[in-house]
Formats: sequence, structure tokens, C-alpha cells
Amino acid sequence: MVQELTHFIGGKRVPGTSDRFADVYDPNTGEVQARVPLANKADAEAAIANAEEAQREWAQWNPQKRARVLMRFLQLIQDEMDSLARLLSSEHGKTIADAKGDIQRGLEVVEFATGIPHMLKGEYTESAGTGIDVFSMRQPLGVVAGITPFNFPAMIPLWKAAPAIACGNAFILKPSERDPSVPLRLAELFIEAGLPPGVFNVVNGDKETVDVLLTDPRVKALGFVGSTPIAQYIYETAAAHGKRAQCFGGAKNHAIVMPDADLDQVADALIGAGYGSAGERCMAISVAVPVGDETADALVAKLAERVAELKIGTSDDENADFGPLVGADALKRVNDYVQIGVDEGAELVVDGRGFTLDGHEGGFFAGATLFDKVTPEMRIYKEEIFGPVLQVVRAHDYEEALRLPSEHEYGNGVSIFTRDGDTARDFTTRVNTGMVGVNVPIPVPIAYHTFGGWKRSGFGDLNQHGPDSIRFYTKTKTVTQRWPSGTKEHATDHFVIPTMD
Ligand code: NAD
Repeated sequence: MVQELTHFIGGKRVPGTSDRFADVYDPNTGEVQARVPLANKADAEAAIANAEEAQREWAQWNPQKRARVLMRFLQLIQDEMDSLARLLSSEHGKTIADAKGDIQRGLEVVEFATGIPHMLKGEYTESAGTGIDVFSMRQPLGVVAGITPFNFPAMIPLWKAAPAIACGNAFILKPSERDPSVPLRLAELFIEAGLPPGVFNVVNGDKETVDVLLTDPRVKALGFVGSTPIAQYIYETAAAHGKRAQCFGGAKNHAIVMPDADLDQVADALIGAGYGSAGERCMAISVAVPVGDETADALVAKLAERVAELKIGTSDDENADFGPLVGADALKRVNDYVQIGVDEGAELVVDGRGFTLDGHEGGFFAGATLFDKVTPEMRIYKEEIFGPVLQVVRAHDYEEALRLPSEHEYGNGVSIFTRDGDTARDFTTRVNTGMVGVNVPIPVPIAYHTFGGWKRSGFGDLNQHGPDSIRFYTKTKTVTQRWPSGTKEHATDHFVIPTMD
């Protein structure tokens, strides 16, 4: 039976008034398991009005009290980890262990946000001038919105919502229409944790819904994660409407492999980073860059061996290394790119096309593909494939290897594998990307640091989570005050700009 999903507005599930729906699939079977409503203007406006009203009171709560709601929320999610992970995996297709990682990485930002009383303390200068003190306060923006991708349906909504709410904002989440059930459940858990209704809302939808959030003057800021063309559209439209925006886009993450690296360790790391979650991670490694032909030959041989051993299964198969892709369109895109790579002259070492899982012939399964001798002019190198396809681009020397990620239009993450500290230090200093790993294949920063790519992987000047998120979700008010005696007598003396001497 096809379940009918809802929105979550004003503290409860509501069906909305739109007659448009999207199908939510079970990627393991290819069958539709639910229908999600796509909010129209009236639905989105109802959420905004509700959020605006709720935010006024929420902002009055002291930060410690707001933090306590997040502490209870943390506990509720931990208690429900297994069933949430199953729900997530059933719509996304990632394995249950990986779904737990998705939730856990989100929870770590909730943990960070429970420190909000400390983060909001502001700055203070005593006696900036004679008898003059200066201090700054961080105040919430009001209603803010998050538009999130399918590939981390728990983590990315929590990365955005937890700091936003902790700062005293109300939050409207427009999750991916491909896997909306976990966000809806998170909304219920927020209410159970004591969050006032209306402070966290879920509005399901597509471009029509997003455009309301982008243009309505009551929404003060938008956080987006998804593909680069949409990130750019959201950033530009938000700016044109006077809103703050931080928009994170696609990626093509390289791993540089120096000749001194331990190639067995590197091959293991690249298999996990390239094929984990079927390559549907913005920090997946999709390009390996061995330096020198000797390193390349040895690495490709080790990778090929390991790719052949990968186990692809249903998302609830505990022995599976990865599950199906999210949809039929994703499967077609991956297969098309493999063909493009062949046509462009790349060497197809392992061909993942045509993989089927017995008993699940309708599922969106892609086998693992490995390309060697890919060159920077090829489309498969320039464009994001977002699937289980790892490509090897051979570099003659270190400088060429450094140039590849630095000159690529995306600049999310990059890694270097070496035993030499001097090489690693030079690389981390000079490479032109936002996040760098040294012998770490997926360098997603911990919650209290910040996450963000450069170039066409990120639009906006503040990163996600960590101290940047508090800056993004608050505005600074700076107060200059003095309490002298006898000010009234000299009130008209000041015709020049005040100075602090
Ligand atoms: P997507 O761009 O298709 O969708 C992202 C969100 O935007 C969804 O909520 C979707 O409903 C909405 N959307 C889609 N089209 C829209 C339009 N025309 N106007 C307004 N909103 C629209 O991305 P996806 O397929 O869900 O996610 C995969 C992409 O996300 C990949 O490119 C991946 O690299 C990227 N990603 C980036 C990061 C990062 O931190 N840089 C993290 C995760 C995923």
C-alpha cells in the first residue's frame, strides 16, 4: 500500500492543500512506497506565518533553556537510532550502518548547538573611551529556511536546524522530496523534546515551494545543500531579495597518492571513500591521482582486486558494502557517464554496468566501476557523476598532482596520502579547496569546526556548523554606552564625529 506523507506545520502533521505529489521509492525494489505532497504557495505561506508567530516567543527563552530542549532531543534520537536508521535506509538505499552514521553526524552538530549559551556571549570592551563601554549582542534573524539534498536526509537538516534554532530562530525545512520521512520524524521528536510548535516546520515540495521561501520577505536567510546549478540559483535569488544565503554545491574530490604512501592502506581507504554509500556523498573520493606510473600501476592493480570483492546488496543486508542508488534517474546517469568515459577513451578497468541483484531486478543497483588513464579534458573528469565510479588520473609529478584539484571547478574536499610531512604541509598550504585530508580520505570536519567547499562547491562567505553557523544565524548589534554624570549639560557640544580619545 502506498503511504501518503504530509507536511509538519505548527507542531503537527498536516496534509496541505496542494494536489501535486511526488513518488517516494523503495530503491531496493524500484517500487513506489509513498507519495509526498508538494507544497503550493498557500502551504508554504502557512508555515512561514506559523514560524513567524512561534519565533517571537522562542527568542525570549533564555539560551540555556533552549539548549535543554536540544539535550532532550539528542536523547530521543539516540533512543530511536535503530528505527530511524531503518526508515532512512528504506528511502535512500544506503546501508543501515551508513544510515546510523548519517544520523550520528547530524547529532554531533546538535551536541555542538547545546553550547549555545557560551556561543552567544558576544564581545565586550570596558572603557573603550573615557567612561564608555562597547558590547555586541548576537540576536536571531527571525524565520530561516533550509533546503536540503537527498543524500544525507538526517545529517544536513540537523546541521542547519540545530544551530538556527539554538540561536532563537524558527526554522522551515524543505527536505528532498526523495526521502522526506526522516525529516518528518525529526519534527515529531522536536515536539516531544519540548520545542514549541512552529519553531521547526517541514514543508515538502519542489521548486514551486522553494521559490516562495526565496521571495517571501518574512524569511530572512536560506541555507542550501545540493547540486551546483541549484545552489547558484538559490544564492543569486536570495541575494536579489535581500536575504542571507549559504549554498553548498557539487564536488569532485581528488585523492593524491604519493609514491611513498602505503598502497594497501590507500587502496582500502579509496574503496571506502569512493564506493561507500554507492558514491552518493559530496565528500566521496571520485578521482585518485597516483604520482608516477609505478605508483599508478601498483595502485590500479590493488584497486581492481578490491573492487571485484565488493558486495552490493539491499540496504538492510548487513553484509553489503553498499546498496542501491536513490532512483532510476540516478542509475541512468551513472550508466550514461560510464559510456561517455568509454567513448572518450578512458581505460575501463572494471565495468559496473548491467549489475542486477537476484530477486531485486527492479531495484536501482549500480555495480562498481573503475576507470584508469582518465585525462582532465574528459567530461567524466570535469563533471560530477555521483555514483560508484572511481577514476584514476595519472600525474607525472607532485606539482601536476597539486594542480589538478586546485584547477578543477569544484573545490569541496581533497586528500593526500604520503609519509612525508614536508609534502603534506606544502600540499595543505597550497591546494585550492575548502577541506583537506592528510592520510584521511573523507575529511569532513568535526562539528565544532566548520564545513564548506570552495569555488563552485560553495556560494556564500560562512561555512556550515561550528562558530560560522552561529554567525550565519544571528545578526550582530553593537552598543556603545556611557553613564556619565552631567551629560545633559553638554549634550549639544558634539558636532564632529565622536572619537574614543
Ligand atoms: P538537488 O540540487 O537536485 O536538490 C537539492 C534540493 O534542492 C532538494 O531539496 C530539491 O528539492 C531542491 N531543488 C531541486 N531543484 C530545484 C529548483 N529548480 N529550484 C529550487 N529547488 C530545487 O540535489 P540532490 O540530487 O538532492 O543532491 C545531490 C547533490 O548535492 C550533489 O551534487 C552533491 O554533491 C550535493 N551535495 C553537496 C554537499 C556539500 O556539502 N557541498 C553535501 C551533500 C550533497
